[in-house]
Amino acid sequence: MSGNESRLQAIYEITNREPFVPAPPESLEDLWATNVFSLSKMKATLPKDIFKSLEKTIKTGDKLDVSVADSVASAMKEWAMSKGASYYAHVFYPLTNATAEKHDGFISPQSDGSAISEFSGSLLVQGEPDGSSFPNGGIRDTFEARGYTAWDVTSPAYILETDNGSTLCIPTIFVSWTGEALDKKVPLLRSISVVNEAGSRVLKLLGNTEVAPISSSCGAEQEYFLVDSNFANSRPDLLLAGRTLFGKPPAKGQQFDDHYFGAIPERVQHFMQDVERDLYKLGIPAKTRHNEVAPGQFEIAPVYESANVASDHQQMLMTILRSTAKKHGFICLLHEKPFAGINGSGKHVNWSIGNSTQGNLLDPGDSPDQNLQFLVFCAAVIRGVHKFGPLMRAVIACASNDHRLGANEAPPAIMSVYLGSQIEKVFQQIQAGNLSGSDKKGKMGMGVDTLPDLTKDAGDRNRTSPFAFTGNRFEFRAVGSSQSVSGPLIALNTMMADSLNFIADKLEAAGGGSQANVLAVLKEIMDADGVAVFGGNGYSDEWHKMAVEERGLKNLPTTADALPWLKSDEVKALFSSTGVLSDVELASRFEVYAEQYILSIDVEAKLVSEMAKTRIYPAAMRHLTDMSAAVSSLKEAGISIDTSSIQKVADLAKTLTEKADALNAAVEKHDFADVEAHMQYCAGPLRALMEEVRAAADALEGEVADDLWPLPTYQEMLFIK
Ligand code: ADP
Ligand code: MG
Repeated sequence: MSGNESRLQAIYEITNREPFVPAPPESLEDLWATNVFSLSKMKATLPKDIFKSLEKTIKTGDKLDVSVADSVASAMKEWAMSKGASYYAHVFYPLTNATAEKHDGFISPQSDGSAISEFSGSLLVQGEPDGSSFPNGGIRDTFEARGYTAWDVTSPAYILETDNGSTLCIPTIFVSWTGEALDKKVPLLRSISVVNEAGSRVLKLLGNTEVAPISSSCGAEQEYFLVDSNFANSRPDLLLAGRTLFGKPPAKGQQFDDHYFGAIPERVQHFMQDVERDLYKLGIPAKTRHNEVAPGQFEIAPVYESANVASDHQQMLMTILRSTAKKHGFICLLHEKPFAGINGSGKHVNWSIGNSTQGNLLDPGDSPDQNLQFLVFCAAVIRGVHKFGPLMRAVIACASNDHRLGANEAPPAIMSVYLGSQIEKVFQQIQAGNLSGSDKKGKMGMGVDTLPDLTKDAGDRNRTSPFAFTGNRFEFRAVGSSQSVSGPLIALNTMMADSLNFIADKLEAAGGGSQANVLAVLKEIMDADGVAVFGGNGYSDEWHKMAVEERGLKNLPTTADALPWLKSDEVKALFSSTGVLSDVELASRFEVYAEQYILSIDVEAKLVSEMAKTRIYPAAMRHLTDMSAAVSSLKEAGISIDTSSIQKVADLAKTLTEKADALNAAVEKHDFADVEAHMQYCAGPLRALMEEVRAAADALEGEVADDLWPLPTYQEMLFIK
């Protein structure tokens, strides 16, 4: 079948497709967490003292008493086998955005030739996948293969059902034999612990005698596109790169703003229902779903949970979105920019910290004391964004997110913080020193008079800010849709811990956390770091100029600009002083992410050149052949005709092959001084050449006969469901 036939066939099949109708929805109560080995299930199945010991570890972060592992493993196995599982898997989170699993059977052959089912405490607690086969940034050579996974007690085990059967999944950390973290979970757990310590210090200095452990919370809003798999199968770029490398924008895009929150197409509703059913079984609290701005784009947002569990759940959510889409004849695109000229997808990471004694520490509240507390924690955020803006940019850096950041739809590549006008004003007053008047003690002194409505809405929304205060949390809006939330959460928790420790040090040096001392520290922070606060239009040219030239903020438009900041002294000091990442671990992360960046652009560049030469150029030539035959016949019949559009196609086809050849040659360059230079080459000349090939191809799409065009068009992929 030639390209255009498969394209027409796809349209035919899709329009005649029988929708996949999932089983009728069960009640939430019947579904909720049925596949999770939750605390309540443990309580029901474990001896009392064992349960108590485990619960203590989960709730207070105390060390796991290994002696309980055998009992837990046995109860877990019973439960899993009763649900039809015959395999278990240690699930871990390597330095990709993916999830990895090592599956083992419960079966254990005996010396007499029989077999029994076995799952001991040691098998639950520790596993041993190949440590060198996952990205490790040079920490492990291939001959030094040993790596360990170890059970993360704070994230519950669960059963994953697939068409091939059910597996007991155990969330684990992944470390090398030498003890370095090879995953995203270890540093996340460490960051949660350091922000707890630093936050508790500050709360005690503020006069709180009872301070429960502080945890960080995350609610991630996931955007995605759905495209019919029949179209996707005719687009190697969608299959291999997750985005269209070619494609002319459709006559109708998102200009009408008629898709956002519009009615959800029926097929997509079935899909969403199916996804939610699986999520509920896994105890993932999916709550909102709606259409997004672009045609074919949707969003799903679970209710926030503790950062570690939310991060594991986010990974599962991405997996379930992808696998369920397949069942429904879709492909789910989590890429940040699948279609040029149309909004891309982000993943807003809503983040806050809090505990059971003081509540949400980023809630402005309505009593003066709470406001003082809030202002301290909010100031810690401001300082963090200013000091570690480049780190925030680096942890969201990847080849795909570069297409989104800085374009006029997503936050700019300059990190700033939006507070909303009310809170921004309070901080301006603190900086000006007019909240510390002695005649305004207590309430007045805190400026509470100026904050009457704080618990309602701290200000308007600002869609243009990469990091915005939204009432009781910060929303990191620049995170990419394909990314793991762990990286951003690690950065936020760690910079927060650093700032809180800074504040605690200052207060201790000043003799305690009196109001006057606190206000003095807040003023100091505003004087040094207030430039990171910005409430205006982040998309505007004025901001780009002002941010860099007047405020000294960094504009890091590409991953090549951002990633090297992981090697900066500030970032190294941040992670090593807090113990969240050693220098070796941090350096390995830079290596891994840099390599991933280079590889993904390399794959795309090769694909652009190949598709241009083997699909688009032949279509242009067929068109030329048809047209010149038509011109000859017309000439013979004595009819004169303007051939300029034929000439135009010939010229474009020539440009296309020339540029594709140039790109082909450019990909072969390998002699770079260092990895930074290689990244810059990818971000600069390679991407520019890819764009040039694409420009010629997209222009051809507007000229070549539609029935010869080999690739499903934007119009078809976005609007036919
Ligand atoms: P919007 O699109 O208006 O930002 P959504 O309701 O789509 O709002 O998503 C908001 C997300 O923020 C949800 O995941 C929600 O659970 C989460 N969230 C709400 N409060 C907090 C909080 N205190 N800490 C972290 N996340 C929160
Ligand atoms: Mg949001």
